[in-house]
Amino acid sequence: MKAVAVLPGQPNSVHLQEIPVPKVTDQPHPHVCRIPEGRGVLVKVLQIGVDATDREINEALYGNAPPGGKHLVIGHESFGQVVEVGDKVIEIKPGDYVTCTVRRPGGSLFDKIGRNDITSEEVYYERGINLCHGYLTEYFVDDAEYVVKVPQNLKHLGVLAEPASVCAKAIEQAYLAQQRLQVWNPLRAFVLGSGQIGLLATMMLRLRGLQVFTLATKPGPHLKSELAEAYGATYVSTKQTSMKQLTEQVGKPDLIFEATGNAEVCFRAMEVLAHNGALIWTSITGGEHEVSVDAAKINLEWVLGNKLLVSSVNGNRRHFELGIQALSHGEHTYPGVTERILTHPVAGLENYQEMMKILEDNQALKVYVDVAK
Ligand code: BGC
Ligand code: ZN
Repeated sequence: MKAVAVLPGQPNSVHLQEIPVPKVTDQPHPHVCRIPEGRGVLVKVLQIGVDATDREINEALYGNAPPGGKHLVIGHESFGQVVEVGDKVIEIKPGDYVTCTVRRPGGSLFDKIGRNDITSEEVYYERGINLCHGYLTEYFVDDAEYVVKVPQNLKHLGVLAEPASVCAKAIEQAYLAQQRLQVWNPLRAFVLGSGQIGLLATMMLRLRGLQVFTLATKPGPHLKSELAEAYGATYVSTKQTSMKQLTEQVGKPDLIFEATGNAEVCFRAMEVLAHNGALIWTSITGGEHEVSVDAAKINLEWVLGNKLLVSSVNGNRRHFELGIQALSHGEHTYPGVTERILTHPVAGLENYQEMMKILEDNQALKVYVDVAK
């Protein structure tokens, strides 16, 4: 069967590769963890989402092949249909729509208790990203433990399950951390960035009842501003109104969700957060970028204001479930809005070059490959 792979370390090595069709009894990552006897799930791939991570792996900025091989099958945002299950799988059956988590457990305590998303080991194992093959292929096998059901009536949004898990986890982490305050009822949020993560975070914060301002550079109206507003948020172009000016107009935000991919914005966000507020960082900023900030002022304000920085990456099975629940709740509250994030379908694995090209266009919201019907 076909797979889209790269040769890690070699820029622009993305190519189509022939790999064997897996069997439900296979061990996909024996160097990391073994699927217990009878617990395998064989999935036919329907759609795979791609994002900046895939582009940066192809640029050889990071990413490693599983030991013993030269290639890494990419793709970590999966959606498919179950074909076959092992005899000890009772929670999923053939025909079910599913997604599959990204990380596999290393050896830390957190990995052992099902929290591989917060592993304390430096090396992490992620399907399609680091040391484990991904999903941009026709079939895959994994442990039922990592396979998460997508409701039949949500199958048109199934390919967003992974990005939704990342947002759901980050927001939950902030609320959990804010229990330090005993009472925390955030009223106003700034979401920085209006890519897929920014928009899904906008939706999730609106579903929690917050007043949300979604900030990005490009003046609206355009699709991203329309989607933010369709979720009941206010879109703000920072070319027209800076984050500081907005703060003067509407007040300081209790919560900031940063998802711009821009390191300077991560630090500028520290200048406007309200007392007792939480700033969530989700951007993965590659390369180097020096920024000058008034560190004394930020330090003073943060200490005197008891402010909190929460960093968040990845999502485990429970965060996928939370993400899927949010997509579902969002679909009932804002019908038909979220599917408008699915802007750039690519027809078939063969069109992987087109896929990489669209990923360079920063107006493309969700790029995904229609692998099979
Ligand atoms: C993925 C996460 C992953 C992170 C770091 C992101 O693109 O969505 O699941 O943990 O990259 O590799
Ligand atoms: Zn990703």
